Parts: sequence; C-alpha cells; structure tokens
Amino acid sequence: MVQNITGSFQLMKSLNRSLVLNIIRKEEAISRTDIAKKANLTPPTVSTIVSELLETGIIREFKIGESKGGRKPILLSINYNNYFVIGVDVGTEEVRAGLTNLNAEILATKKQKLATGMTKNEFVTILEHLIRSLLENEKVDKTKVIGIGIGMHGIVDHEKGISIYAPHFGFENIPLKDKIENVFDIPVTVENDARSLALAELWFGNGRDAQNLVCINVGDGIGAGIILNGQLFHGKHNIAGEFGHMIVDLNGRQCTCGSYGCLHTVASGIRIKERVTQEITIGRRTIIPDLVDGKKEEITGATVHEAAKRGDAFAVEVLDEAGRFLGIGITNLINFMNPDKIIVGGGVSKAGDFIMAPLKETVKKRAMTTDAKSTEITVSELAAQGTMIGAVTLVLKQLYDRS
Ligand SMILES: [Zn+2]
Repeated sequence: MVQNITGSFQLMKSLNRSLVLNIIRKEEAISRTDIAKKANLTPPTVSTIVSELLETGIIREFKIGESKGGRKPILLSINYNNYFVIGVDVGTEEVRAGLTNLNAEILATKKQKLATGMTKNEFVTILEHLIRSLLENEKVDKTKVIGIGIGMHGIVDHEKGISIYAPHFGFENIPLKDKIENVFDIPVTVENDARSLALAELWFGNGRDAQNLVCINVGDGIGAGIILNGQLFHGKHNIAGEFGHMIVDLNGRQCTCGSYGCLHTVASGIRIKERVTQEITIGRRTIIPDLVDGKKEEITGATVHEAAKRGDAFAVEVLDEAGRFLGIGITNLINFMNPDKIIVGGGVSKAGDFIMAPLKETVKKRAMTTDAKSTEITVSELAAQGTMIGAVTLVLKQLYDRS
C-alpha cells in the first residue's frame, strides 16, 4: 500500500462512517436522528460522523417540508457527483476503462484493443495509459477519485490484488494493485471479471432482490461469479466459479485447461467460431461467409447471430447446441446450489433467444423438482458495461458496505 494515499482513502477508514454513508445512500434523504435510530449509534456519534462527512463534501444538507412542530428538518443525502471512481474491465480482446460518479453512473469511457503476444509490462502500461487519459480528458483531480477497481480476466487473488493466472494472455503473477497504486496514489481493488459482473448485478442490475445468485459470463471464455448470502464467494484458492471447466461431455475434446469435455469446449464464443469455421471449410451450406465477405477470420459470435436472425439453419443449429450445453451446466449448478436466480451475461448472451430458449428448455426438462425447474434465468441488463460497473462496485462496496 502506498503510504501517502490520503484524502479520499480516509473516507473509507471507519466502519461507522461506512454504516452512516450506506444508510444515507439507501434512504436517499434522512435526518441525523433517524440515522442514529437505524444505525444503533448514539446521536453525538452520528453528529460527529456527519460533520466529518460534510467536511469532505461526500454528503450534503438540505431542508424539505415542515415537521409537525413547524421547524423544517435538516436532511442529508449523498453528493454523488462530488467524487469519482474508475472501473477497468480487462477482457480477452480489449480493455475498457470508465469514470463514474458514486452511484456507478458512467461519465466517460476509454478502450483499447489488446495485441496478441504483448508482454506483462506492455499490458500494465495499457492500463496506466487508459486511466491517465480518463483523468486528463475529464480534468479530474485525482484526490477526487476514491478508488480504482479492476475486473480482470482469469484467476485473481483479490486480497493481495494479484492477477495469478490469465490464461488467454499466458500471464502469471502480475501485482496489479501495487503497480497501479504506485503510479496514481489511488487505492486499487482487483477482482476476477465474472465476479465483478456478479457484484454489478447484485448492486445495480437484475440481481438486486437476490441473496444467492450466480452470474454466468459467456464470452470467449465462460466464468461465473457466485453470490452467497449477499456476499461474493471465492473459495479457498480463488477458483470458485470456474464454470467453463465443468465437465459436460465425457468423450469431449481437450480443453485449454488440459481436461476433456469442459463446457468451454462446447459452448464458449471461441468454440462457436471454431465450429463455424471448420464446417464452412468442409463445405457446409450457410450464409455466414457472405456476411464477412468471405473473410473467415472475421467471423464473430455477432456474425453467427446475424445469420440466425436471417433464418440460416446452420447458424441456428450452432447457437442451439451452445444453448443446450449451457443448459446442462446450469442444471448441474441448480441441482448443486439451488440459487435464487441465474443471470447470463457476456457476448454469447447477446444472441438472445437463439441461446436462451434451448438453455431454458434444457433446465425445464432436467432440473430435479418443479421449483428447481422454474429457477429464474435472465439475461444481464447491464450488458457490455456490466463488468466495468462491477469494477466500480468493488470500490463502492468498500465505501458504503464493509460487511
Ligand atoms: Zn477446461
């Protein structure tokens, strides 16, 4: 940890301060007296905390209506636009960084494609560059940024802020937290991308009413973020949620992890592209090549979706198969964990009903009980911004809710 991180960092130092801030956030407008009742703190303690918070400018006072005695009560609310958070989404193809207010509302974004074969240092430099250009372009004083959250592809040690293994890039052990904190003097939190997305859904998306939630990110890879009793679940070695490596086909192809028949080998974006390219090469009839002017290397999940929308039978078949395999994986998950809700996000989920209908049908057929069969399965409403908002939420969670 950098020694001279002050100012904004101080906001997050006290548990009682977070408690008071969270009550103000949830109530939107509340008096000191009511905060004391809700927080179970004495009025003088609340008064002191509120004074400190007012001094930082993170909350504001205002008067509204008349109380019974005729005096207008003074209410407090969060000054959402007086401080900022930066969220960084590290995907396999590109990095997206966003500047938000204290309610995760995006004010500006930057992105950069990631070149194959880049070094660890080049990768860290890209992150630094994106963060710096957000600060400079938006003319934000960095003492007003309370934290930087990074939602990172691969296995992450969230306590130490280390990217332990990023399979797509072949990187191991990048101390992202230390490196970025050293450059900007802003506290940095690092988490796996699927877990970041799950946190975003819990706070700002379709998961707001859930206590036990699984958010599945289906893009080039397949990962899941698990929320248990309202908290992210990491497992002993930070691999909880490696849903893509659930084995669904005993006789299946070899996976990038070394095992065989993982969900990743039958339902990921990479598999969809691979299968389409292979079958076109052996002469399968489809309009997909026409959509990319014959350039097979330009085929993406979006191309296959577009072909399916135009009634291409092969495209429909490929998405249907991916959906069914995801349905098998999700059935296993429901039988094993019985979550309140499952949210599907990531690029592949954009194919909508071409994937979601066979997925839900499989769960309906195979889950154990009537209740299990009707587990709510929805598409992420935060869409492409989800992981970035999740990265921001990593910081907001420390500000408002330290449980
Ligand atoms: Zn695998």
